[in-house]
Amino acid sequence: MQLDVDDIDQAVTTGAVPGAQHIDEILDAAYEHTSKHHGGEVADYIPALADADPDAFGLCVVDVEGGLHEVGDTRVLFSIQSISKAFVYALVSERVGHEKVLDVIGVNSTGLAFDSVVAIELNDGHPMNPMVNAGALATTALMPGNTADDQWEAIHSGLSRFAGRHLDIDDEVLASEVKSNSRNSAIAQLLHSYGRIEHDPLEVVDIYTRQCALAIDARDLAVMAATLANGGVNPVTGVEVVSAAVCRDTLAVLAASGLYEATGEWLFEIGLPGKSGVSGGIVTVAPGKVGIGSLSPRLDSTGNSVRGQIATAYLSRALGLNIFASESHFRSKVAGIGEDQAG
Ligand code: GLN
Repeated sequence: MQLDVDDIDQAVTTGAVPGAQHIDEILDAAYEHTSKHHGGEVADYIPALADADPDAFGLCVVDVEGGLHEVGDTRVLFSIQSISKAFVYALVSERVGHEKVLDVIGVNSTGLAFDSVVAIELNDGHPMNPMVNAGALATTALMPGNTADDQWEAIHSGLSRFAGRHLDIDDEVLASEVKSNSRNSAIAQLLHSYGRIEHDPLEVVDIYTRQCALAIDARDLAVMAATLANGGVNPVTGVEVVSAAVCRDTLAVLAASGLYEATGEWLFEIGLPGKSGVSGGIVTVAPGKVGIGSLSPRLDSTGNSVRGQIATAYLSRALGLNIFASESHFRSKVAGIGEDQAG
């Protein structure tokens, strides 16, 4: 449906987060509160992921001025996996534009598992959701470039700009995923048969698998999230990675489907756009305020990190980040009058 709003200027409203020391205290409290939870299982469908330390737990908040707040295992490297989908989506949107990604990929949930083949068939070959494997493969394929190497270079350098440092591939994870990649190869071939991937589908799988194997830590995730919270400018390096409009579009997609089939529950409890991955990372974005990165490899049955969800819910509440929360203007005015009288 055409909404006829293209000529309307977009206004942006933002609010303040508590001061630096207060964030550190809340972060410590969130960490302590969450550390007593030991539920969930480490993913093992990609064999190398099963080697992760199940008890690793890092939590990091980066504010839009680049202030870093971290606790726990924030420098433990792990593969970015599905979280790359969010940032590659932003990079591709920047290059090909709002209309093209909407048309070729779509922005709705499929209601099916992230590696579903059935979802493609049910939607006449339309990938629908850029945050599941079919949509992510189609997104990677859209990155402009004369060769697969050019496309990979654009994705690799773009993801590195989001993190503010050169990201390296975890070769062990890459080799393991290449060996167990038949399903993603099948998905790419199916999308190719529907004309949704124009390039050689197996080359696209190769690039996608490399993007998933990039090694990052919880601090990197928080910087990447803070870039999306900050209109596309990395708040640590000052580099503009994508436009503010692309950030806005990407966050809408994350809000709709960033936590697989549990996105509704995540939004209900946490009220922020986020994206999770099978290695146990989650990025969460509070627009205009902070980015949050968490790592804890134990996953629940929906494939989301158990501790990552608990810690982020804690932070959303304690830092007042839920984008759906408001307070009555009238009520606060009345409270203010009461205070004046009392004083
Ligand atoms: N590389 C993984 C895959 O394609 C990513 C999946 C995920 O993190 N959910 O299967």
